[in-house]
Amino acid sequence: MSTDARRHPRSRELHRRASRHTPGGVHSNVRLAGPRIFFESGNGPWLRSVDGDDYVDYLLGQGPNFLGHAPQAVVQAVHEASRTGVIFGGQHELEIEAAELVCSTLRWPDMVRFCVSGTEAVQAAFRLARAVTGRTRIVRFEGHYHGWLDNVLMALGDDGWGVASAGQLAGHLDDFVVLPWNDADRLATVLAEEGERIAAVVMEPVMINAGVIEPLPGYLQRVRELCTSHGVVLIFDEVLSGFRLGLDGAAGRYGVTPDLATYAKALAAGWPVAALAGRAELMERFGTGEVNHSGTFNGSVVATAAVKASLELLRDNPPYAGIEEHGTALMAGIRELGQSYGVPLRAAGLPAAFHVSFGDAEVVDYRSLQQLDLARYEDLAEALVDHGVWVASRGVWYVSATHGPGELDAALTRFAKTLTEWL
Ligand code: PMP
Repeated sequence: MSTDARRHPRSRELHRRASRHTPGGVHSNVRLAGPRIFFESGNGPWLRSVDGDDYVDYLLGQGPNFLGHAPQAVVQAVHEASRTGVIFGGQHELEIEAAELVCSTLRWPDMVRFCVSGTEAVQAAFRLARAVTGRTRIVRFEGHYHGWLDNVLMALGDDGWGVASAGQLAGHLDDFVVLPWNDADRLATVLAEEGERIAAVVMEPVMINAGVIEPLPGYLQRVRELCTSHGVVLIFDEVLSGFRLGLDGAAGRYGVTPDLATYAKALAAGWPVAALAGRAELMERFGTGEVNHSGTFNGSVVATAAVKASLELLRDNPPYAGIEEHGTALMAGIRELGQSYGVPLRAAGLPAAFHVSFGDAEVVDYRSLQQLDLARYEDLAEALVDHGVWVASRGVWYVSATHGPGELDAALTRFAKTLTEWL
């Protein structure tokens, strides 16, 4: 019998019902991988399931609940703003305030366009980069995730990087050059050979999606210089890192300014909003109508109220020191558990987002990440969920502004109990 059936009878019943009208019983294929638990509510860093179990949450909805679940200031701002309508097919003042806050908080961009998902923001960046350069090809990196559309979804197969889904048009990947990350020489070679055809270089400036790997010292600076000298647009996909690694994201943390950047997950406390930010010289092309970027739901009252309230909270009460403290202590606690249980538990990355796995290797890119025993962690993740720690099998743990000493204690106690029973 599966753990779902034993441990989560009500969730199991609901999943059966959901599956009648929803493929797989879930609305995102990412959720096919996890135990199909139904939740009743979230509060700060805690979740409660329909079976009455509580979970200390280190998944944060795959990242967005950076301010914890249901942060009251944002909930109230959204409720208040939406009482008098949410979409007008025209403009409203919250759009201005939210855009001003994004630009002033990040400090480097001049302009911003809101949309609904990270996937869309990335697509807008590609189109703009191609329009301004008049070139078509884009350099991307192994293991970096940029959404689920035909031109970006990729998996490593026997023949190298290719389509990851049935029905995906392989031809849409033709305009991409896929390189190992953290290797500036490889990028330099490609740009020397075919720089005149390359419109953009896109990357997660910290490879959070695969292993939470930091850029090597000087790497981002070198990429910046290479892009500038070849007239290539540098796009940072900060959908995960933005507002999470500090108020000014990865660009601020590593002191490297892109030409365009995408933001989403920590931007609006869980409300569905993404943003493309950039220099005026580029972004103005949308404003002239020369480059199309559209969307019925873009910049809605709900979205911009959530952005405004979230960024005001982050600006006025920056949670970053507390998150650093919590994440550092949690990573250390996990490593200590590994030692005391005699297993090579590895916790590495950054305090706000780190990666847990088994093994010991120098990890600098997607291929070196594969030296770790990722499958063993997948199994452990399932056991952790059974013991009330909400994490995903991919091994990325996120810390929110609301995690404190109580959650640290709960997480490590539950982790220890899991190991006792699982090993
Ligand atoms: N870029 C990155 C770096 C992401 O992590 C994600 C989502 N995990 C996306 C783009 C796509 O965002 P969305 O799921 O909102 O479409």
